[in-house]
Amino acid sequence: MKFAITSKGDQKSNTLMHKMRTYLLDFELIYDEDQPDIVISIGGDGTLLYAFHRYSSRLDKTAFVGVHTGHLGFYADWTPEEIEKLVIAIAKTPFQVVEYPLLEVIIRYQGGAKESRYLALNESTVKGVEGTLVMDLEIRGEHFERFRGDGLCMSTPSGSTAYNKALGGAIIHPSISALQVAEMASINNRVFRTVGSPLILPAHHTCMLKPVSHFDFQVTIDHLSYLHNDVKSIQYRVPEEKIRFVRFKPFPFWKRVHDSFIDDSD
Ligand code: NAP
Ligand code: MN
Repeated sequence: MKFAITSKGDQKSNTLMHKMRTYLLDFELIYDEDQPDIVISIGGDGTLLYAFHRYSSRLDKTAFVGVHTGHLGFYADWTPEEIEKLVIAIAKTPFQVVEYPLLEVIIRYQGGAKESRYLALNESTVKGVEGTLVMDLEIRGEHFERFRGDGLCMSTPSGSTAYNKALGGAIIHPSISALQVAEMASINNRVFRTVGSPLILPAHHTCMLKPVSHFDFQVTIDHLSYLHNDVKSIQYRVPEEKIRFVRFKPFPFWKRVHDSFIDDSD
């Protein structure tokens, strides 16, 4: 079996990375940064986002596991104290995986430039570059609303505890294949109206944004941010691809929610 390790880059994460690499090599696993079967991310959720984007072209062949060197993470749910256990589990036992849904974003341009396609693990947001974002929002090809405001956030179930949560979105269990639309400060008065509530769409309900008067947008895909000019439409849906996490111990999602947001003292 081949493995790779990505580190947040701080001293604690780097030390742990070297230790784990040595242990795994002792168990006769092969270190392969290009084609790993297992990717171990050491740091935080942000480190796992980075690892996901590095290996997003081979998601069907790679399983991820996250160790946290700071606070407990949603993707980084192993503690540094558990790494001996983790190494033995990786080296000695056939591992199980859980799959989480992702978000597909396709951006098309005026004038026929080649479309851009992205996969997000947490979310994709869109904001205007010259003030208020104005977009027509369509669901399954039907006009739904004309949005005016700071921006929109389309998130995955596992990303629902990140930016989406700060916007008042719901937390969705990652066994549910869905995409969530959350508003950022919509303008609502007698002239402009949006639904106001976050929407949760099932897989294969495509959501489409179409510009009204400005065609340049700042689009984020997880921690990455891009400026897109001359946009014709932005399409969102749940793709076929999924991310696979290695599961060695039960650590239920709702317990991670509790320990992250309520308290972790029990
Ligand atoms: P960052 O600004 O350092 O991270 C923001 C925080 O979000 C960190 O504490 C990070 O955890 C946490 N986080 C990441 N994914 C999460 C998840 N699925 N559930 C719960 N918390 C999560 O930037 P980053 O580490 O590169 O992460 C990028 C993410 O930041 C974006 O995908 C977006 O979700 C989030 N963000 C949030 C807001 C907001 O809440 N207002 C605004 C912008 C971006 P770690 O410390 O473990 O890395
Ligand atoms: Mn408690």
